[in-house]
Amino acid sequence: MSGLGNDDTRTTLLTWLLRSLLGILPIVLIIIFIDNPIGDPARKLYGWMVGILFFMLIIAYILLVKGWYVPSAIMTVLVPMLGAWSSLLFDSSVSHGDIFPLLYVIFSIMLSSLLLPELVTILLASIQFLLLAGVVLWIPAYRPLNCVSFLIFIFIASLLSIITNHMLGNRLKELHAFAITDELTGLLNRRYLEIALNQQLQTDRRFSESDATTSFGVILLDIDRFKSLNDQYGHPAGDLVLLEFSRLLHRILPIDAIPCRYGGDEFAIIVHTHKVGDTIRIAETLREEVKHMHLYYRGKNIGPISITLGVAQYPLHGNNKVSLIFHADESLLKAKQDGRDRVGCTVL
Ligand code: GH3
Ligand code: MG
Repeated sequence: MSGLGNDDTRTTLLTWLLRSLLGILPIVLIIIFIDNPIGDPARKLYGWMVGILFFMLIIAYILLVKGWYVPSAIMTVLVPMLGAWSSLLFDSSVSHGDIFPLLYVIFSIMLSSLLLPELVTILLASIQFLLLAGVVLWIPAYRPLNCVSFLIFIFIASLLSIITNHMLGNRLKELHAFAITDELTGLLNRRYLEIALNQQLQTDRRFSESDATTSFGVILLDIDRFKSLNDQYGHPAGDLVLLEFSRLLHRILPIDAIPCRYGGDEFAIIVHTHKVGDTIRIAETLREEVKHMHLYYRGKNIGPISITLGVAQYPLHGNNKVSLIFHADESLLKAKQDGRDRVGCTVL
């Protein structure tokens, strides 16, 4: 979905928007009652209208709390739309030239550009703009007014809202990509690994009710004696090794594997395997391939290198993020102690 940031950002935004609107509407209702004396038709009409809109916002809030973001966002966008258009249908002063209640159309476009995909907003803005143009040209009471200025206002405000949110959305996407990418290698970083593991666990828990074979593997690996490589050839040479190793990961690993730089010379990989044996096989392939890397820095051969790996399989070694990483790390440590350049896997 395009628009403002990821789903979490939009859910938080909608939550606070709904809370604010639910807080504001009773105040609006009080102002309507103070502003319009008893017996004034506007008091009854707008009293009812705000009451209904308040009820719609409560439903939108309940939908959001239940986790139904899209219906909740649609309901929220409908509130100012309904408010503006029903004033045209039911308030005689609006049909006699009071253009102000129609300005509220702009709020539905602003809300939509914050909450819904860009295409929906463009469609919503275009339809409402054409309807408004039709209304001001069709209803004779509007003709003496400066309708061109009114339409230009609606058009520019809609456009600015769409463009601003588009730019903001792009910037948030860039920031998100920056936050989950390792600068040196371009691989996903440890923060993303946590997100990916959470997502993987959620998906697997959902499917595991119907499919007993649901599983995935986690491989933690560390470059052997990397510090002495740095000491011997310099830090930039070490950087080059990390970069070349990341490229190897992309070349060797299955297409659906998720390699991440865990930190320093340590890497983590999520592999979509069904059995621990398959994960170990992938780890062994990697261990072998690393030895055949051609590593040159400023014309000098700085290879070969070796890696040590630790493997954990869900749900065999753990059914949560912490225990899976813990098991992979334990296996890696044990493999290091056993002499490095090997794949470790705790037998349970
Ligand atoms: P071991 O086989 O026990 O893993 O030995 P090691 O020397 O590799 O020990 P360790 O994994 O603890 O060392 C990590 C080294 O990685 C230490 C640090 O200088 C180096 N390092 C961490 N991040 C970077 C980096 O971004 N670039 C370079 N060039 N070196 C880094
Ligand atoms: Mg190391």
